[in-house]
Amino acid sequence: MSVTTFCHFIANRFVQSASERHFEKFSPVDGSLVGTVAEGGQPEVDLAVQAATAALEGPWGRLTLAQRTDMLHAVAREIDRRFDDFLDAEVNDTGKPRSIASHVDIPRGAANFRVFADAVKNVPTEFFEMTTPEGRKAYNYSLRVPRGVIGVICPWNLPLLLMTWKVAPALACGNTVVVKPSEETPATATLLGEVMQAVGVPPGVYNVVHGFGPGSAGEYLTRHRGIAAITFTGETGTGGQIMQAAAEGTRPVSLELGGKNPAIVFADCDLEAAVAGISRAAFLNTGQICLGTERVYVERPVFERFVAALRDKAQALKPGHPSDKSTGIGPLISIEHRDKVLKYYRRAVADGATVVCGGGIPNMPESLASGAWIQPTIWTGLPETSSVIRDEIFGPCCHIRPFDTEDEAVRLANDTPYGLAATAWTRDVARSFRLGASINAGIVWINSWFLRDLRTPFGGSKQSGIGREGGVHSLEFYTDLRNVCVST
Ligand code: NAD
Repeated sequence: MSVTTFCHFIANRFVQSASERHFEKFSPVDGSLVGTVAEGGQPEVDLAVQAATAALEGPWGRLTLAQRTDMLHAVAREIDRRFDDFLDAEVNDTGKPRSIASHVDIPRGAANFRVFADAVKNVPTEFFEMTTPEGRKAYNYSLRVPRGVIGVICPWNLPLLLMTWKVAPALACGNTVVVKPSEETPATATLLGEVMQAVGVPPGVYNVVHGFGPGSAGEYLTRHRGIAAITFTGETGTGGQIMQAAAEGTRPVSLELGGKNPAIVFADCDLEAAVAGISRAAFLNTGQICLGTERVYVERPVFERFVAALRDKAQALKPGHPSDKSTGIGPLISIEHRDKVLKYYRRAVADGATVVCGGGIPNMPESLASGAWIQPTIWTGLPETSSVIRDEIFGPCCHIRPFDTEDEAVRLANDTPYGLAATAWTRDVARSFRLGASINAGIVWINSWFLRDLRTPFGGSKQSGIGREGGVHSLEFYTDLRNVCVST
């Protein structure tokens, strides 16, 4: 693997930090150096915001809707054309198996531009006719106008997918963006700069400043008063800090935050489908998906069978190199994150869990021994008060507990400060609708998981977020609604 230099992308130019500060990015697969990354500070954030502001008043702001959306379709085509480059970049940064990145991350990166380029063309406007006190007609109509420069702050688990999920609707609505990718995953945001150049997106429309959160590019971006709105995906605690920063200047925020998502398995379900679905929900992307399942409640008559079947699935996941076609599970994002996950693995044992499988670090060949590898892990027997049940772990693990009644299952599922997603497995149609209404989460999946039409609202309840993105809901966040009243 060659070592790369990741620069900021400001006004369509790749630039180093004025201070020449940089940091190193290591591979989660084998601990080798992937690249050096420019670390942005206040000067780089200032430059990026200036460029983004100028672009709003320049050629970007003068494009017609059709010209703008054509350009976003061209961005999607260019991502498709450079599919392998994006795949290499994402896999080098995250260590995830190529089979996952090629089916999930990269295609969704391109799809986000197509979906929002089309969605923005289909937003209706309001129109009201009224009569003035003098008996004349007056006409009110609504205009959706861009908010301005949007600050986009992203996590590392699905870097291209989650970044474009924000950048595409922001640009479709006529805004410009300054993106701060995760320090763990600088590559695809940088590569997208090359795509923007190639398809002729005007300078300043898409900007990237690399760096960390507090005291670095992330904090400077959220505090910058030239930023009109902030969209963030990441941990709930970070979301709170960003909300505080956005309060200066009363700027709107969209927060997509953490989860501790439940799955409920009823005895009447298709058990094979439930095991397959929950295996994906718990272990896909090495458990580093905000929508993943970490708490499973299974109706008592099928509890033992379910535990054994999920254990078999977990044990069949072979850790290995991303390019190896037989690899079933990649490493965690970093050794630091593995330390955090292992702390919960030890906590589970201390709190009295039965370790059904996993619980530690797998034996890896010498060449991969320095990677952030971890075993997929299943527990039973923990009290619901354990921090293993309460906290988001963000690793390939879940706890399984039996239940006896639907009411009990719903109560257990809802007993969490989070409310991002839930999945339930049953053949009872009436129960499906009851669960849709009674489970307190932004997304309730019945007999499915990670299945989404991108036009639907996406976001979390309780501490899992503020606001909804997806389809017209994204367009509501990325535009300001203005009423115009014309009196005749
Ligand atoms: P994180 O909160 O640690 O970091 C996310 C981003 O915020 C990074 O770019 C980081 O540099 C930046 N940041 C950190 N502190 C900041 C600050 N004070 N000001 C400005 N920026 C700051 O999250 P992570 O570890 O990268 O990602 C994992 C988390 O993301 C998990 O909690 C997961 O559930 C959540 N997540 C949520 C969704 C969702 O849609 N709800 C999707 C994916 C991930």
